[in-house]
Amino acid sequence: MSINVQKYLDDVKKRNPGEAEFHQAVEEVLESIAPVLEKNPQYVESGIVERLLEPERQIMFRVPWVDDNGKVQVNRGFRVQFNSAIGPYKGGLRFHPSVYLGIIKFLGFEQIFKNSLTTLPIGGGKGGSDFDPKGKSDAEVMRFCQSFMTELCKHIGADTDVPAGDIGVGGREIGFMYGQYRRIRNEFTGVLTGKGIGWGGSLARTEATGYGLVYFVREMLKANGKSFEGQRVVISGSGNVAIYACQKAQSYGAKVVAVSDSNGYVVDEDGIDVATVQRLKEVERARISEYVKVRPNAKYVAGGSVWDVKCDIALPCSTQNDINEDTAKTLVDNGCYAVGEGANMPCTNEAIKYFLSKGILVGPAKAANAGGVATSALEMSQNSQRLEWTFEEVDERLDRIMTSIFKACDDASKEYGLNNNYVAGANIAGFLKVAKAMLAQGVI
Ligand code: NDP
Repeated sequence: MSINVQKYLDDVKKRNPGEAEFHQAVEEVLESIAPVLEKNPQYVESGIVERLLEPERQIMFRVPWVDDNGKVQVNRGFRVQFNSAIGPYKGGLRFHPSVYLGIIKFLGFEQIFKNSLTTLPIGGGKGGSDFDPKGKSDAEVMRFCQSFMTELCKHIGADTDVPAGDIGVGGREIGFMYGQYRRIRNEFTGVLTGKGIGWGGSLARTEATGYGLVYFVREMLKANGKSFEGQRVVISGSGNVAIYACQKAQSYGAKVVAVSDSNGYVVDEDGIDVATVQRLKEVERARISEYVKVRPNAKYVAGGSVWDVKCDIALPCSTQNDINEDTAKTLVDNGCYAVGEGANMPCTNEAIKYFLSKGILVGPAKAANAGGVATSALEMSQNSQRLEWTFEEVDERLDRIMTSIFKACDDASKEYGLNNNYVAGANIAGFLKVAKAMLAQGVI
């Protein structure tokens, strides 16, 4: 059977106009799974691909709130419940001015395969708002979160859909949303993950995505006779994922020399001081430019690209499409040989193709950053059992899960003769589990 990937893609573009990020995510997956569809015509005959490409449910809603000056503000809220074939919808909420339906759909689509790879029983979903928490008071963020949850709570539940954090949604926002959910529904259940320790949160959830990324890259390097020891690492972003990737990479003997935020980047040849970044970002919510006040030997570059800094290993941990083909060429010219995607879809499809053509090791987002959602699923398990596991217990499980995710990607890439193409491996392994479940459950 010959698979017409272009036809699927053309249909998606026609049915979902103007959603460039969603089209991009779909294209990457379709290209990877074409050989699987050729080998397994039953998936084509039963319309698995068409059904996978159409979310089970898309919810959009008005979020009105009152700012500190007494003025009414209106934002737009989203929850896309993409696929629940293998478990309740699970995926984060993003609060960022760039958010629109196309971003939420790309993230929700990716989440299906990512969650499948974790080996845990979770389906794919994603949500958020075009609200910008930056520059807002705590009281404004609280009023927004309460209004957002007043609508969202009608659609979620511990066995239905369990949102978590993402860009712009950290412990503070999860707290405000959880409080409102509990107040309206009058139940204390594990309906959100990323909760605080002491009210249902899991130890090691904060660290999980960054640590998990480094565990995945460690396995990828090991399989290719390399390690983090003594390597120069550059990380984009300085938020949750970036901070804990930096900490774990340094614990393996790497030297992280640069991190960034949306205004610029810092280079510290002595190695990034994680405690300073944590204080600036987690406590003071300050700009990364402040870093050089504490570390005078470091250099701050306003604007520009952190990827101009020479490195062996690149860990993009900020946002989508951070590395395009030109950036990829700069990285390769500067000696970079491995990329671990901490953010979702941080490399364009052209950048990925360029890296692979040069033999660069690429740990794709849906596999490499799955540690966050995997630990969220562990938080759900603890909530259901009314138990709390120790930090070490959760971290050990996370390490095992990331190691098994790498193995699944490696095995799938080998099975299809695509050695070292972990991008295709992740898409194939993630797809197969969901496709089998959909096939078994009939046309729904
Ligand atoms: P945070 O909000 O904690 O940090 C995001 C970082 O990226 C900040 O440094 C931010 O800078 C920067 N950034 C955000 N948007 C842009 C932009 N448009 N241009 C340049 N820089 C930008 O988010 P997280 O660390 O949680 O998330 C980072 C990435 O990881 C996202 O792609 C997210 O989807 C993904 N991810 C996160 C998981 C998690 O558990 N947190 C799980 C899996 C994936 P500034 O402060 O200036 O905006």
